[in-house]
Amino acid sequence: MKPRVAFFDFASCEGCQLSVANLEESLVDVLKLIDIVAFREVMKEHSDQYDIAIVEGSITRPMDEERLKKIRANANILIALGACAHLGGVQRMANQWTPEENKKEVYGIANPADIADSNRFFEKPRQKALDEVVKVDYTIPGCPINKEEFAKVLIALLTGRKPPIPDYPVCVECKKKENVCMFTIGKFCMGPLARAGCGAPCPTAGNECEACRGYVDHPHEKAQTDVLEKYGLTVDDIMRRKTMFTYRYVEKPKDGA
Ligand code: SF4
Ligand code: SF4
Ligand code: SF4
Repeated sequence: MKPRVAFFDFASCEGCQLSVANLEESLVDVLKLIDIVAFREVMKEHSDQYDIAIVEGSITRPMDEERLKKIRANANILIALGACAHLGGVQRMANQWTPEENKKEVYGIANPADIADSNRFFEKPRQKALDEVVKVDYTIPGCPINKEEFAKVLIALLTGRKPPIPDYPVCVECKKKENVCMFTIGKFCMGPLARAGCGAPCPTAGNECEACRGYVDHPHEKAQTDVLEKYGLTVDDIMRRKTMFTYRYVEKPKDGA
């Protein structure tokens, strides 16, 4: 029997699931190896009998934590899909403020009674990555994920090989493309610490890398130090920055959260 695979989503834009749905020719290779039993974006059928859970999105509320724990309990393997699941996503930047401050800013709610009432629905939202709630077996990083990488990781897992997620910085891929370094034109780039595997599309297009794939393991040992040294920077200079995707690495719990 082929392994049964189910997709789930929490707080996200569902763009990573869309990338999987758009696998096109690689999908045929993947489908030879698995049975998809739940995938809300592409099919109506749903089964709670699965071996592999692929989960997209950040965990926001206590009810989400409970749901994720049930998914974990049903699955032999749990895969975090994309930056929301891996890091808490762009939405994690909201953790800089209390839930009440966020609600006031977004909805302009001024009446304390209304704020108390809205807690019925929001339950003091705090963004978390999946591995802050349950054990995650594998992570496919990126915002969105790279669909070819997804296919390669799944095929490697199903054929008993180590999933091919690189553990070296984006600078390596960027230099291979002979790009002009963002630092030479006065921009700040997270590439010396960001995990490669995307092919450095952002600096190639003239934009800073925001490390949507998170950092390499052990950045103090594996950063692209020649680039850092050339521009008078340290690993800590990069890690102190709060970008769209790396707030997880600098977050300190806020009172009232
Ligand atoms: S990681 Fe990016 S593309 Fe994927 S669900 Fe989150 S916001 Fe969407
Ligand atoms: S710092 Fe950014 S632009 Fe410069 S080499 Fe590294 S990835 Fe490329
Ligand atoms: S270059 Fe950086 S921001 Fe762009 S896709 Fe790669 S890791 Fe993400």
